[in-house]
Amino acid sequence: MRRIAAIFLAIVLLVFLPVIIPVVALLDRAYRKQLRAAACAFACLSCGGILGLESIRLADAQWDEHLRELREKYPSTRFRLVRHVRAICPACGVRYAFSERERTFVQIRIDRGLSAADDVPRTLP
Ligand SMILES: [Zn+2]
Repeated sequence: MRRIAAIFLAIVLLVFLPVIIPVVALLDRAYRKQLRAAACAFACLSCGGILGLESIRLADAQWDEHLRELREKYPSTRFRLVRHVRAICPACGVRYAFSERERTFVQIRIDRGLSAADDVPRTLP
């Protein structure tokens, strides 16, 4: 029975994967476009400056650095992480999450942010 399920899963993946990958790429591209548009129109709630594209670059760089540190610290661990910080104000450093529904940024509280509770490494079964 497990072999039939594995064969069925392989067939489904072979049929739908060529469709799923471009769809996911298009959805990601649309998301990034919304993020950039919102960043260029959003004034920081702390300093009043426009976040701009630099804020997204800063958040991406911080996330990449965070992932690199986790990989170094736990080299054989696979992670399930949720990313919250999507923009960091280049002027004052306030961090923002992005609300897709409202297409705007939401300030992340300092005591929450990227705390250890948000990204505790977990191993997959
Ligand atoms: Zn600011």
